[in-house]
Amino acid sequence: MGVKVLVTARSFSQNDKTPKEMLLNKGYEIISNPFGRIMTENEIAELIEDVDGVILGVDPFGKDIFERAQKLKVISRYGVGIDNIDKDSADSRDIPIYRTVGANTQAVADYAFGLMLDLTRKIAFIDRECRKGNWKKIKTREMNGKVLGLIGFGAIGKAVAKRGAGFDMRVLVYDPFVNQEMAQEYGVELVELDQLYAESDFISLHVPLIDATYHMINADAFKAMKPTAVLVNTARGGIVDEEAMYHALKNGEIAAAGVDVFDVEPPSNPSLMELDNLLVGAHCAASSVEAIDKMSYMAAENLIKGLEERN
Ligand code: NAD
Repeated sequence: MGVKVLVTARSFSQNDKTPKEMLLNKGYEIISNPFGRIMTENEIAELIEDVDGVILGVDPFGKDIFERAQKLKVISRYGVGIDNIDKDSADSRDIPIYRTVGANTQAVADYAFGLMLDLTRKIAFIDRECRKGNWKKIKTREMNGKVLGLIGFGAIGKAVAKRGAGFDMRVLVYDPFVNQEMAQEYGVELVELDQLYAESDFISLHVPLIDATYHMINADAFKAMKPTAVLVNTARGGIVDEEAMYHALKNGEIAAAGVDVFDVEPPSNPSLMELDNLLVGAHCAASSVEAIDKMSYMAAENLIKGLEERN
């Protein structure tokens, strides 16, 4: 029987058709996500039985799916986070998980910085007011020279720090795996979380979703932030306690938040959508044409490499 590949990532090879052709040229049969949205576990389970490799978006890939996927040899993650995959199952079957490290770094850094800029200068809000006929001057603040707190200083955190440097910002970093030498190279200050919360005007999250970061931004964290602080989350929904964020935004514990990622996507809590000081995104931070092309090539190359090593 030939090699079967399931592609759940919706934007895979969307612009440049070459990555898909790379798979077809190898003789692989491709099953693409038929739903045009994130697939459910049941939907994946229906298709996974005789699949050899997966190009996986942010769709859930739990223990039950591994049990159904008896032929599975490789997971090629289309992205970097692997919180949607049951890693223990993959490890116990010796199934490698490849990632497209670096491919979406600039796209996410742009988006995180864009959220901060918009929440500061209220660009989208002014646009909406103008369309309603309100052409009054709306006063906002500047980002230049303010304090930017980064939680997580990997590829994306560093790319956001560079943008902050361009705005003459003082950049504080909390990341227990980063040393002083690295901090000096990027002109940032390594601090503990309480100092970052107390001093930052902008707090941007760039950590993976793991046990240690689950609900890291909770009610206590919001209380420790400045009432003028802006929180930006382009990392993962589970890092922020959404209930605590709702109360913090509603009660003015922080000024605003820009959120590209939610616990459940689309978000299950409708009251979040009633907040004027929340800027909402549909997990689009990585969806630039450039990042889609880079992720598609890398994901296709990783899948082929993984399958050829296994055969
Ligand atoms: P990365 O692996 O390069 O960096 C992650 C950083 O987090 C590392 O420096 C690590 O030391 C640090 N870290 C780990 N545990 C920590 C902890 N407990 N406290 C503080 N820091 C900790 O990853 P990246 O490419 O920078 O991506 C970061 C995250 O962004 C990914 O894990 C992913 O979940 C998310 N992401 C989202 C999108 C999107 O479309 N919104 C796209 C890409 C990545």
